[in-house]
This record gives sequence, structure tokens and C-alpha cells, in this order.
Amino acid sequence: MEHEDALAGLDPEQRQVAEAVRGPVCVLAGAGTGKTRAITHRIAHAVRTGVVDAPSVLAVTFTTRAAGELKQRLRGLGAHGVQARTFHAAALRQLTYFWPRVIGGDPPRVVESKLPILIEACREIRRNPDRGELRDVASEIEWAKVTQVGPEDYPGLAAKAGRTPPIAPEEVARLYEAYESLRRRRHMVDFETILELTAAVMTEHAEVAAQIRQQYRYFVVDEYQDVNPLQKLLLDTWLGGRDDICVVGDPNQTIYSFSGASPRYLTNFAVEHPAAAVIKLVRDYRSTPQVVGLANSVLAKARTPHRLELIAQRPEGPKPVFAECDDEPAEAETVAKRVKELISQGVPTREIAVLFRVNAQSEVYEQAFAQAGIPYLLRGAERFFERSEVRQAVVLLRGAARSANDEEPLAQAVHNILAGIGLTAEAPGGGTARERWESLNALAELAEDLAAEGGDLPRFVAELERRATEQHAPPIEGVTLASLHAAKGLEWDAVFLVGLTDGMLPIIYAEKPEQIEEERRLLYVGITRARAHLHLSWALARSLGGRKARRPSRFLDGLTGNATAGSRTTPPARDRRSGQARIATPIQCRVCAKTLTVGAEQKLGRCATCPADYDEELLERLKLWRTNAAKEAKVPAYVVFT
Ligand code: ATP
Ligand code: MG
Repeated sequence: MEHEDALAGLDPEQRQVAEAVRGPVCVLAGAGTGKTRAITHRIAHAVRTGVVDAPSVLAVTFTTRAAGELKQRLRGLGAHGVQARTFHAAALRQLTYFWPRVIGGDPPRVVESKLPILIEACREIRRNPDRGELRDVASEIEWAKVTQVGPEDYPGLAAKAGRTPPIAPEEVARLYEAYESLRRRRHMVDFETILELTAAVMTEHAEVAAQIRQQYRYFVVDEYQDVNPLQKLLLDTWLGGRDDICVVGDPNQTIYSFSGASPRYLTNFAVEHPAAAVIKLVRDYRSTPQVVGLANSVLAKARTPHRLELIAQRPEGPKPVFAECDDEPAEAETVAKRVKELISQGVPTREIAVLFRVNAQSEVYEQAFAQAGIPYLLRGAERFFERSEVRQAVVLLRGAARSANDEEPLAQAVHNILAGIGLTAEAPGGGTARERWESLNALAELAEDLAAEGGDLPRFVAELERRATEQHAPPIEGVTLASLHAAKGLEWDAVFLVGLTDGMLPIIYAEKPEQIEEERRLLYVGITRARAHLHLSWALARSLGGRKARRPSRFLDGLTGNATAGSRTTPPARDRRSGQARIATPIQCRVCAKTLTVGAEQKLGRCATCPADYDEELLERLKLWRTNAAKEAKVPAYVVFT
């Protein structure tokens, strides 16, 4: 199969990342500058040139969806067989493999949520289980485990770290202890224990460490700004003193420090690895200058030592729209109306996302979208193969494949089986029934695709099993409804940031300056998910006719201009004479590639602040090319620096 050259389509700095195959490499760069792209091309380049074996590469990222995307991009570049996983998925795989040999017996079961165990723990210590409280206690236990603080040390160290537990720290410690004891008795491991145990097994069993280190020799970590101490410990254990590691991240996108993550591993990488190549990327390839401008403005007010200002590469687009609404239902209606407009303009639903601060905010959007007939997905493609309806479907399909009726066409057979577990012709209105339907429908569509290629039921089941191993979920059509945390690393053509009030962003319990800063970074993450359309909205009251006591997020002070009321939106810029929407052709600085907006700079082809002697040889070549091209074809004497 033909694949594009792994180095093609990279700018000079990205290329530097891709070509530095050995040794420590650190990429510090802002959102949308192509960090993920640079590491996928780096891996593909190393594999395709034969410098490394695909199975010896371990690429680690933070969400199952991001890992799936990484794998998909690698396959597209012809690099098959690379392990791209989340930290816990990679560790769990190793732990499960070595468990029978080094620990004995069956591998443990995974705790998907701490809440049920905590409810039982409450009973054990005779405490009233308050779910809201327990959710916060679960976060405290997670923080304690990732920072390796045991129950006995929790009260003292939590106070020192400025934690604000929902109940007395001594009570958290009692629950923490009861939780751990119950978990062990049940032979279960939570995400933190998976990492801790894997590192411990490698430390205590030299032969296990040797085998794992023999297998994995090249490490790549995406979103390194959100690594926590436990993940760092595991990474160091995997490396075992070697330094073939490439990390990429953006300190201004650290959004998990409340649960123990720290950008210091990224910012101190060069101190830890003095031989490291530190590469900075500044060109933003994702978003229009309008989106980038807003992101830069939000960051300009942040207390950050890392001024990674973004320089937009894309052509001009629509201005971000700010909408102030009377109440939350009106806000949801406004968003639904605008989403419908975008869909009618040809924006696919999968290219639209509504992002909020807390999951509870999604309900009003679910209702509004169901009413407006807009398909939506609540969880994105995350953990698709772990959903109960998908697991149920796979079992049934497998059963039907081992007695398949050759006469029945594949699509029909799959439809019949899925109909038995809830696939109806019409999608249900909302909630979990809708989510369930979306999953089953995605399986049915996959069957239709395979049927078109002449596949049969056994082949379909084999395809599902392959995808399940690779966490390669089938696409589900629909507008994504997701939390800002779940959106990191992803991008859409149109992004709606909703509920932007003081109290929601920053969230009411963010009181300390560093907590407020983390909330500001969340807004930055949200804004930078948009390629072109960005809609920011808030409601002055919660419910219909409620008291209008809210104010827009303080992070938007001075940025909203005259926010539109309700559903009015700002039309795109129009040419005064023709009345057509204006699409500007960007002229970019030949040195830094920034889009030039000042006439004098456009003429010069370089920004006033960029040095003229940036790379003499390259500029000379460009000058020659421009002069010749201008002479021969009378083309304007500007070149896009790529
Ligand atoms: P984030 O910080 O949000 O994770 P990122 O730095 O990882 O962002 P990518 O997701 O790799 O950025 O890239 C952003 C978008 O820009 C993607 O659509 C990517 O394909 C595109 N892109 C990156 N580099 C280039 C390039 N050199 N030429 C064209 N498009 C590019
Ligand atoms: Mg990325």
C-alpha cells in the first residue's frame, strides 16, 4: 500500500522532532501546533526507515479515544504494530500477563468507579453514605494514591497541599483505609493500583523488568503536562535508566493538577535529561486567526511563566460569537438553533461539539437536541467496546457466527440480532436509551459497510474482535457533548462553550489563585478545540423566570464586546461591493509564518519583529525562487513558508 512520506507535511521544527529518533526529546508547544502530529510522524518515520521495530515502540496518552486516534493515524502512515495506549491500559496488559507467574492465581478485576466500594466502606465504618460527598472523597483518594500518600499520612499532607476535602481529613483517611481493605479483599485494582503494582512488580522481579524493557525500547508520551507522580514513576521504571524518550506537551493546558498531575515534569525535562533536544512549535495549524486571537487573549491574562503565543496559519474565519441568554433552557435552545444552522450549511454533526465544565450541564442540551432532532453523543467514542450493550452484542454475534445461515445477508443478520437487544428503527429521544441505541446503530452501520465489501458474519465478528483489541471504535454520527476535561487533544470545526458564568468557569469551589488559574487553562483548552466556528454562551439565571443573579465568566472580561442576546449571531465579514462573504488569502511571514495583517509587513513579506537574517541560506533560495517566479509568471512576489 502507498503511504505518504512520513516527513512530508511537517514544518521544519516538527521535522526536527520526527528526525531525532534516538535520545531524549522534549516538545514544548501551544495548542494546535502539531505536537501529536509530530510524534505520530516521528514514530512512522522511525518504523518505516527501519531504525526501530514497531512492537518496540510504546506511545502513551491519556484517554482511550486519544490512544485510538493515535493508532489510526499511525496505521494511515503505514506504521502497524506500534503500541499506543493509555498509561493504565499499557500497565494493565503487562500486569495481567505477568500476574500468574509472579503473583499467582487469576489476575484482579478492575474497579471502574470507586463509588460503590466507598458506599460499602461507609457501612463498615458506620457512616452515612452521602453520594455527593463520596464523589469528592473518591477524588481525594485518587489524589492521595497518585501522590503516594497513605491513609495515615493523608490528614497532614492534604493540609500541606492545600486540599479541601468535603469532610474532616481524619474521616477521609478512615474511608480511604476501609476502601483499600475492601478493594484488596475483593481482589480488585483501581487505576492507581494498576500503575503502582506494575512498577512494583518490575522493581521486585528483575526478570519481569528485563522482559518488559527488552520489549519496549522507544517511548513517546503525549500531553506530558498532565503526568502525575505515579505515572512518572512507572515511566521511569519502564525506561530503567535509558533515555530514548520523546515527550510533548503544553504547560498552559495542565488541567489535572487537582488530581495530582504536574507540569513540572515537562518543564524540568531538560534538567532531568541534560542531553535533551528541546523543540518549540509556535505555528497553530488548527484554528483560524479569530480563534487563535481569542485563545491568546485568554492566556495573556494568565499567571504563566510559559508565554507560548500561537501564530495562526489558517485563513480568516468567522468571529467568535458571544451570546448572553436569560436562562439555561434559552441558552440550550440558542445553541441548538445555531447547530442546526451549521448542519444546514454542510458542517457534519461529527464536526460539532458542545463543551461544558461539569457533566451535569449536559442534560439541558440533551433535551434541547432531542427536541430539535439533532443527533448527539454523550461520551464520544470513548470505551466503546467496554459499553455493556456492545459487549452483549459481540457475545450474541459471536454465538450466531460459530451456526451462521449462509443464505441470510450480513446486514440483515446483524440487524435481526441487534433488534433483539434494543436497536429500533427510530432513535429514542435521549438519555441512556439513546446512548445504547447509538452504539448498536454504529455496529449495524459497520456491518453494512462490510456487507458492501462482500463480508459475512464470521468476518464481521473477526473485524469486531480486531477493533476491540485495538480500541478502534466505529464512528458514531452526532454532535459531541463532552466535558472540557474530556475534550483535550481533540478538535472540531465548530465548538460551543456553554455555561460560561462565574461560578461554573471558574467553578464555585475554585478559591485559591492556583485553582482559578487551572480554570482559566480549561477555558484555553476549550477555545483551542475549535477549527473555525466558536460560540461562547452563558445564562443569567438557571431556570425559566429565575432570578438573574449570574454574571459572565471573569475570564471573558473585556473580550466579549457587545455579546448578542439569545440567538442572534454575528454574520461573517462581507465584501462591501459584492456582498459575498470575504475569504482573505493570508500572506505569511517568511520567517515565522505568522499571518500578516499590516500592509507594510505584507509588502515586506516578513513581520517587523522578525529578524531579517533568520536563515540566510534558506532565505536566499526563497528570494531567488521568488524573483524567478515573479519574472516568469508575473506572480505576486510572496511565498508561503512551509
Ligand atoms: P493539542 O495541544 O490541542 O493536543 P497539538 O499540538 O497536538 O494540539 P495536533 O492535533 O497535532 O496539535 O495538530 C492540530 C491540527 O493541525 C491537526 O488537524 C493537524 O493535522 C494539523 N497540523 C499540524 N501540523 C501541520 C502541518 N505542518 N501542516 C498542516 N497541518 C498541520
Ligand atoms: Mg495533541
